[in-house]
Amino acid sequence: METHAHLDMIKREVKDVVQDARQAGVTKIITIGIDLESFQKNLAYAERFSNVYTAVGFHPHESKKMKEGELFLLEKMVTHPKNVAIGEIGLDYYYKHSSPEAQSQAFQKQIDLANKYDLPIIIHDRDAHQETANILTEKAQGKKVVLHCFSGNISLAKWCVEQGFYFGIGGVVTFKNALELTRVVKEIPLNRILLETDSPFLTPHPFRGKPNEPKYIPYIAEKIAQLKGKTVEEVAQITTENAQYFFKI
Ligand SMILES: [Zn+2]
Ligand SMILES: [Zn+2]
Repeated sequence: METHAHLDMIKREVKDVVQDARQAGVTKIITIGIDLESFQKNLAYAERFSNVYTAVGFHPHESKKMKEGELFLLEKMVTHPKNVAIGEIGLDYYYKHSSPEAQSQAFQKQIDLANKYDLPIIIHDRDAHQETANILTEKAQGKKVVLHCFSGNISLAKWCVEQGFYFGIGGVVTFKNALELTRVVKEIPLNRILLETDSPFLTPHPFRGKPNEPKYIPYIAEKIAQLKGKTVEEVAQITTENAQYFFKI
């Protein structure tokens, strides 16, 4: 299952993208919204295709856009029957497209919203591991949490396993220089891994340089199978069960 794509950013007919994914054995797709405009588009895809679901949340880059009015509109969308989580939310200190203060505020308010509606959260954390961990410790105890595109080291990974968190693993694991991530994947239990592409970004090997699509999920599963000493079928089955449990779909 594809647990993290941005269908609204893929520059190809969505019908074809969904169809190609299905043919590649990717049965369900969760498409992630990053701001109000993208929430609307992704909700429309989820309404149009039976196997497409959505998650809505102001991306850390878009945090500065989240005022009271926007939070109110977000709250109206989270209860949509095909919305399965709040995300991606979190902190990105690499780009800092929004100030750290705005990011932290938006992150915390959206965790409160997820708590109110008992929804899982999808975390984007780039170069902000400590601050992200602090906020999750304070606000997300006992919650379903996935760290999408996990970029931490082994010790952070171990801590996340102890917290009961899940790991979104994508195309980066197939890159030749992804040494720390391959170590992390070997370390963490397979029943905590969710497959994702983050399409149209982070295209797996051997398609690097081309736009990414959910149909490439099997290449990520294959690499994980290799690292874990499992068959690709086992990885597909277990990660699909993980996603079904995590997102209740
Ligand atoms: Zn992200
Ligand atoms: Zn994303």
